Amino acid sequence: MAKETPSYVVILCGDCNFYFGKHKKSKFNCPRCGALQQNPQIFSRVDDSNKLHNLVSELNIPEELRNDFRDKNKNSLQKNNPDNLIDLIPFIINEVPNSKGELNLLDLNVFLKKNNIKLNARKIIETCEIEGLLLRLDGEKWKIISESL
Ligand SMILES: [Zn+2]
Repeated sequence: MAKETPSYVVILCGDCNFYFGKHKKSKFNCPRCGALQQNPQIFSRVDDSNKLHNLVSELNIPEELRNDFRDKNKNSLQKNNPDNLIDLIPFIINEVPNSKGELNLLDLNVFLKKNNIKLNARKIIETCEIEGLLLRLDGEKWKIISESL
């Protein structure tokens, strides 16, 4: 019995550098630019259409784009994840208030900008209020509820 060769091939289009999968019996036309592949560059052979699909979509994401995408996700997570707010609060409470233990919205915004923290100042203050760390004074001013006993 002859060994069956895989039913699908992955071709790299010589005209537009697009990877595409095809059944080994179908035509060698690139689905993206339509170019008929005279000397098809067979990148891979697979025997299952799901594998083919995954491989093709993976190959068509350029490597640098993939890293870029991952980095962007990581950065936005680091800067906007509410969990990090909890880590940030002690830092903010230490750094932002003046010598009287008072903090205003403007100072907090300046601090956030300086540290490249992309969180909403009001949200931070709200959280501090809920946590019982800040007491609202007149206007846009808050006082630290002292932790020293
Ligand atoms: Zn093409």
